[in-house]
Amino acid sequence: LGGRITHAIHQMRNVTIIDEKALNECLNEITRALLQSDVSFSLVKEMQTNIKKIVNLQDLAAGHNKRRIIEQAIFGELCKMLDPGKPAFAPKKAKPSVVMFVGLQGAGKTTTCTKYAYYHQKNGYKPALVCADTFRAGAFDQLKQNATKANIPFYGSYTESDPVKIAVEGVDRFEKENCDLIIVDTSGRHKQEASLFEEMRQVAEATKPDLVIFVMDSSIGQAAFDQAQAFRQGVAVGAVIITKMDGHAKGGGALSAVAATKSPVIFIGTGEHMDQFEVFDVKPFVNRLLGMGDLSGLVDKLQEVVPKDQQAELLEKISKGYFSMRMMYDQYQSFLNSGPLNQLYSMLPGVSAQMMPEGESEAKIKRYMTTMDSMTNEELDSSNPSKAFNESRIMRIARGSGKIVREVMEMLEEYKRMAKTFSNMKGLKMLKNGDKSSN
Ligand code: GDP
Ligand code: MG
Repeated sequence: LGGRITHAIHQMRNVTIIDEKALNECLNEITRALLQSDVSFSLVKEMQTNIKKIVNLQDLAAGHNKRRIIEQAIFGELCKMLDPGKPAFAPKKAKPSVVMFVGLQGAGKTTTCTKYAYYHQKNGYKPALVCADTFRAGAFDQLKQNATKANIPFYGSYTESDPVKIAVEGVDRFEKENCDLIIVDTSGRHKQEASLFEEMRQVAEATKPDLVIFVMDSSIGQAAFDQAQAFRQGVAVGAVIITKMDGHAKGGGALSAVAATKSPVIFIGTGEHMDQFEVFDVKPFVNRLLGMGDLSGLVDKLQEVVPKDQQAELLEKISKGYFSMRMMYDQYQSFLNSGPLNQLYSMLPGVSAQMMPEGESEAKIKRYMTTMDSMTNEELDSSNPSKAFNESRIMRIARGSGKIVREVMEMLEEYKRMAKTFSNMKGLKMLKNGDKSSN
């Protein structure tokens, strides 16, 4: 996907006058890419229409950076689609809340229940787990094992076959024990059978959950919208968790789940372990969505343009979200000479859209570079230079480079903006794989 989008935008970069035709070609290419990434057809259509509205070519005064406007419009539209406009219910400490998990069998409910409980336990809550899955053999053992590992109280039964009865008993017990986050795990079925929805409705009716979380496997592809909608019709879904984001799925189904449930994604699952669980953050997610496809190409590119003995180090830095002033300097140099690093960084998710200073003026880049020439090696190589830049350093750099303080500050702001983009790269799995293969 990222490859296609980056390519489409690159094409636009080469067109000096962006007309209706060029814009349409770019949008069509992006449409195909988003569809391949499991974003639903109707959402893609909607995005296309919105972007055309935003990028009104006639209204753009000459001199505006149209490519940048298009890039930002795409980014902004995808972010907007992930925002249903209302936050999910947030449990409060010391006040009992009931949270019920629903989703198909194998979606990751039981695993995610524990992750969710563990996450809140670390943040000072007193969670408890209730196993209302009497359908699948071994369901209670699985929950029990997870809960024990995380030291979280649990409730369930090997003999009782009525999920409603267990759910009510569990919730009652933990309310009495002053737990503030009572999590009810329910059973799923292979398909969206009527009995699944009936059971789900009954459990919800009996336990009156403050929040129902719909758990969705990221690899279900275009089925996301219908599945999410079916659950939403059965029970009042208020939040979504997308699992198995560590796999090959690009995560486009998240947009469908939000649209179908009108609820926000609150977490993503990134592995089988308890702590492989991340708070959902829209911008890095969209960055990944837009750039995912590029990463394998990135490793090839890296091997082509970076000396062999430096490959592993650079990859390691990028996958840690590390970005130094020197990397910014090298990137500028490469940009000015159309060098290979420029191509390399343009393949990183989200970077191509944000890499260059607004306006992309060469004069500005050169000014920033002159400023950086007055910095020490230590400042250039630090992984967190922003912290080190106190007033006296800024004055010293301004004096040394013959610049005024405001210009030094502006360069530092630009650095921070780029560093933030790089920090979104943290933990990207394919980068880590690439790291291994280059050893
Ligand atoms: P349930 O039927 O909905 O309760 O699903 P389970 O919690 O039993 O999970 C089904 C399988 O998916 C198990 O093997 C889990 O270890 C696995 N799983 C769940 N979440 C994730 C995830 O985020 N990443 C990966 N790789 N596996 C997951
Ligand atoms: Mg389960």
